[in-house]
Amino acid sequence: MAETVQVTGTIYDVAIVGGGPGGYTAAFRAAQYGLKVALIEKTDKLGGTCLHWGCVPTKALLFNAEIWDHMQHASDFGISFGAGSGDGPAPKPTLDWGAVQQRKNGIIVKHTKGLDFLVKKNKVTRIQGYGRLTGSAVDGVHTVDVAGPNGDASQVQTSQIKAKNVILATGSEARMLPGLTPDDRILTNIEILALEQVPKSLIIVGAGAVGSEFASMFRTFGAEVTVLEFLPRIMALEDEEVSKELTRLFKKRGIDVNTGAKVETIERTASGVKVSYTDANGRPQVKEAEKVLVAVGRAPRTAEVGLEKTKVELERGSVKVDEAQQTAEPGVFAIGDIVAGLPLLAHVGMMSGMVAAAKIAGKKFRPVRRDRVPACTFTEPQIGSVGLTEAQARAGGHEVKIGKFPFAGNSKATVLGSHDGFVKVVADAKFGEILGVHILGPGATDLIAEAVTVLELEGTVEEMMFTIHAHPTLSESLLDAYGAVEGMAINA
Ligand SMILES: Cc1cc2nc3c(=O)[nH]c(=O)nc-3n(C[C@H](O)[C@H](O)[C@H](O)COP(=O)(O)OP(=O)(O)OC[C@H]3O[C@@H](n4cnc5c(N)ncnc54)[C@H](O)[C@@H]3O)c2cc1C
Repeated sequence: MAETVQVTGTIYDVAIVGGGPGGYTAAFRAAQYGLKVALIEKTDKLGGTCLHWGCVPTKALLFNAEIWDHMQHASDFGISFGAGSGDGPAPKPTLDWGAVQQRKNGIIVKHTKGLDFLVKKNKVTRIQGYGRLTGSAVDGVHTVDVAGPNGDASQVQTSQIKAKNVILATGSEARMLPGLTPDDRILTNIEILALEQVPKSLIIVGAGAVGSEFASMFRTFGAEVTVLEFLPRIMALEDEEVSKELTRLFKKRGIDVNTGAKVETIERTASGVKVSYTDANGRPQVKEAEKVLVAVGRAPRTAEVGLEKTKVELERGSVKVDEAQQTAEPGVFAIGDIVAGLPLLAHVGMMSGMVAAAKIAGKKFRPVRRDRVPACTFTEPQIGSVGLTEAQARAGGHEVKIGKFPFAGNSKATVLGSHDGFVKVVADAKFGEILGVHILGPGATDLIAEAVTVLELEGTVEEMMFTIHAHPTLSESLLDAYGAVEGMAINA
């Protein structure tokens, strides 16, 4: 271990380790409460996985995919790209992948600069370096060792930060299959976002949100896509009907979806990759492609941050916290992707950061509840869901009533030319309380906001059936789905 060469005199109210969405949100909120805040980030950029290799770049590329898809079907909207010359075919739109990547990168740069601005605006002290707790607090003050950028062991450790409270927000990284390291053909979410061209063929191992979004995106851009999912269904955390319908729609779009597929080996070939797997019937199969994306989940970054010297408790590598995001070590909090029992989503990181900041500042807060977290997947069509699935509600002992409304009956969906999918409402039969809402279809990732509010305010079917939804909007599909719970959808 390199020697400490400098100790700063300041004692911060809170030091935050990790500048992703969890960490920077906690920093800004703590500063807004008037606390003295240090934000320690190992790289020279704030924003974490979300801004650089996750939410933002994927959504930028998915939006391009949506536009590209519209271009392919422009004639459905009465649009053509000119008559062409002579007897030749009419010109077709072309995809400039370099420009697509440039636009995505520009969005990242813009928002990275935005975070730099907000750090200054909130008077947060920003420290670049790799943070590690040194142990329990001494006289109520914690010490975080900060080593050179990226935690490079060869770099001289430059400082120790003293703080009354520490928030750990070190995030997660892609899990790899045993024995594999990512390269130019075996990809994680990081390498796939930097591809110089759209691959002709792509195998995706794992069909959770990350795998499914890339499958949807690259299929739209013209790649031959094969999905290999170990579980019996894709998007396995969603309501079963959502998984089933998305599978049907993926297959209709030409995505080769294989569930119950156990990947055995991934090898490089002369021109690409070869994936050997056992199919759902136990038969060995081999599939070759130009590239393979491994999207088999995320591992929390809880090693090498000094936890072993504290009372912080782990559960399969993730940090156990109470409802105020406090760990078992007094004065040490954990937020975001490293927390046990919460989904690995940016908005969970952000809200858990706000909860920790409020607790430290002695302010009121509402704990992050698992069943109030919206999950959004930006496939075509999109998924937005919150609360209990039908199966979870039944397993939890609820007598359940279901309302389901297809987007085919929604006039705005017709205007958009986007009729696939449905809204499904899971309600308690006795009291009419809405327990879960599951949307597959156009605008699902925005529409779900209404459902989150309904669940948060413990709304009932009856209340929502008499809540005016503007016409013609996609939100009316929710109104019809609430009505469908009582067998009274107007438009179906
Ligand atoms: C492809 C992909 C798409 C996604 N899309 C979405 C989406 O659409 N919506 C959504 O809600 N979520 C999405 N996610 C998940 C989302 O990115 C994460 O949930 C979110 O980034 C977690 O935030 P965090 O602050 O906990 O950690 P991170 O974003 O991982 O940030 C952690 C930060 O801590 C730094 N760090 C780590 N260790 C140290 C240390 N010891 N010292 C100093 N700094 C350190 C890292 O450099 C990093 O900047 C996506 C993820 C992926 C991979």
